[in-house]
Amino acid sequence: MAELIDGKRIAEQIKEEVKAGILELKTRTGVQAGLTVILVGEDPASQVYVRNKGIACEKCGIVSVEHKLPADTSQEKLMKLIAELNADPNVHGILCQLPLPKHIDENAVLLAISSSKDVDGFHPMNVGKFTTLKKFSDMESAGVFLPCTAFGCIELLERSGVRLEGADAVVIGRSNIVGKPVSMMLMAKNATVTICHSRTKNLAEVVRRADVVVAAIGSPEFVKGEWIKKGAAVIDVGVNRIEDASAPKGTRLVGDVEFKAASENASCITPVPGGVGPMTIAMLMQNTLMAARWFAKNK
Ligand code: NAP
Repeated sequence: MAELIDGKRIAEQIKEEVKAGILELKTRTGVQAGLTVILVGEDPASQVYVRNKGIACEKCGIVSVEHKLPADTSQEKLMKLIAELNADPNVHGILCQLPLPKHIDENAVLLAISSSKDVDGFHPMNVGKFTTLKKFSDMESAGVFLPCTAFGCIELLERSGVRLEGADAVVIGRSNIVGKPVSMMLMAKNATVTICHSRTKNLAEVVRRADVVVAAIGSPEFVKGEWIKKGAAVIDVGVNRIEDASAPKGTRLVGDVEFKAASENASCITPVPGGVGPMTIAMLMQNTLMAARWFAKNK
């Protein structure tokens, strides 16, 4: 049976490390790390995420400021706020919670955030800089931010002792927030990476060859346990709510991988929930620490 990769425990460990880093930075340079989150509208899931980010900031010693704007906020007003935050020396990280209301051009907003404060790692400047880095470890000295969920997948693998160098890694999904960045990061860690998507032929056969499988599809239990090679490491990014009459609320969360069957073949696997989920905020905290360090170094 596979070992469980405990995302909650690893995320807590990362937040402890960030807390120590924030304190060290303040003692050494006087810089108090600050993260500003912008929330436009009242999407209930976004409100929960923003609240959880605030709690994590408090835990790590990061000053967190929230700007909650009404759903009918104009693009112009949002851009003006971002320009002010870009210029504010007390703000080291800026995060605009997605999705934004339909009348706002999401790409223009992401582009407007200064790339040195882009703790979500979605700015094209950060994406481009990362793809041209020589070594993964140059990331901090080059001031490059990586998308949090994808970065979290890499941390889970490395902190679980999974060898990435020379590994055959298969990533299912090619989104800008998970599939593509996780593929780039695995390549930077010297894995041989195959990226699969909805047009991939013989997906089962491709997955069967993998030492490392990352599933980011958004389709409940799509990856069958029998596809997983004996001893492979499995990172399940998917979060899908399915009906289950036996569950207290009539529904439950499952990932993109058939967890039980995959556990019989894998050497280690993330559960859903409690695997990748908690890592996103932990990596956001780590990116904010990096942004504050970058500011302190360059002020
Ligand atoms: P997305 O933008 O919808 O991308 C899904 C990807 O899966 C696409 O590249 C798509 O291929 C591919 N795909 C769809 N059907 C497929 C099939 N039959 N065979 C192979 N590939 C297929 O989704 P996302 O934003 O990356 O999110 C993926 C999952 O991760 C979702 O369940 C989401 O909720 C979850 N997620 C979790 C976290 C977290 O835990 N913190 C964060 C982000 C996302 P095409 O490109 O060809 O369409």
